Amino acid sequence: MSKHAIASLKLIFFSSSIISLILSFTLIKVHAEESMLPQAPIFIDEEPVTTSYMMRSGHILVPALFFKHTGALVDWDHEYQSVVFQANGKKFALPVGKKFTDDYDSTTGTWKRGSLSTETVQFDGKPFVPLVDVSKKLGMNVKYDPVINRTFITTNISLNKSNFIQKADTSEKLVALTFDDGPENHYTPMILDILKEKGVPATFFVIGDEISSYPEIMRRIVNEGHSIGNHTWSHPDLRKGWSSKVREEIQSTQQELQRVVGRKSDLFRPPYGAITKADLMVLNEIGMRNIHWSVDTLDWGGLPADDILEIVHQDISPGGIILQHNFQHGLLLDGSVEALPRIIDDLRQQGYTFVTIQTLLSR
Ligand SMILES: [Zn+2]
Repeated sequence: MSKHAIASLKLIFFSSSIISLILSFTLIKVHAEESMLPQAPIFIDEEPVTTSYMMRSGHILVPALFFKHTGALVDWDHEYQSVVFQANGKKFALPVGKKFTDDYDSTTGTWKRGSLSTETVQFDGKPFVPLVDVSKKLGMNVKYDPVINRTFITTNISLNKSNFIQKADTSEKLVALTFDDGPENHYTPMILDILKEKGVPATFFVIGDEISSYPEIMRRIVNEGHSIGNHTWSHPDLRKGWSSKVREEIQSTQQELQRVVGRKSDLFRPPYGAITKADLMVLNEIGMRNIHWSVDTLDWGGLPADDILEIVHQDISPGGIILQHNFQHGLLLDGSVEALPRIIDDLRQQGYTFVTIQTLLSR
């Protein structure tokens, strides 16, 4: 073999190993990211919920957390590396990598082995479970319509759907100002000064972690007659959290409120307005009202005061709930603070009275 031939061979070997390296990297990536999976809507009690899914030996697998949209509580058992589902009086676990379930028998307090048509798999760090098996075990009806290629789940879970409040049902010209994500010590004092000068009560949806950082500002909010709501401890997207984590986010903030201002709140606002039926079950159990809004000022994006005023003028109606913020991130909320006294004056001129959420909802 000539020197030249050996060199080419080496080159081929070298480049092919690079190619296989690139390929394996690509494959790892393909296998690692949930966003690479196909997505489809699944209808839960007539409402479409889009989810990623994978097919495995003819069975559809979905992320375990998808089931929070049905109202089932979904948790992770670290010790047994299994997903625990609870709904309709049933409780069972799906250990990752296993083709069986552990079913809890509440009459005897024991666990029994149950069957599963395909194993639970871990993908992108998340457990995926067989859709049909889990639905049936939860006491839900599931059917597939091959003509329109759609899956329908009837949950048989009754939920207090009225616990999704965007505004009060009143013709009285009442309006509630709400401020999310505080307390902090830049914008909050400015907002409190304006509210004090105008004699306007507002409602602050506070974050537990911020309360512990700014207890003095938190006390000032309460001392100046404003109402408070719980906005979780760390501002997570509740849809992506286990049910026990959701409960912990709410309860730890309640405890911090109790510690700093001597009382808890009966109001809750989910971060990003994102919430599943399972999270609502948790709220209902704790006895908290789930408050959204009817006027989104979009102030968090750094809108100028004039734009914020225009949004308020367009979207305001009797019983309305206005969403603004008081977090510290650069100077993003300058426009919001500038708009505040003008919002108050303008709406008063239109005949509106400012009240807290509690007062608004008692009408
Ligand atoms: Zn928020």
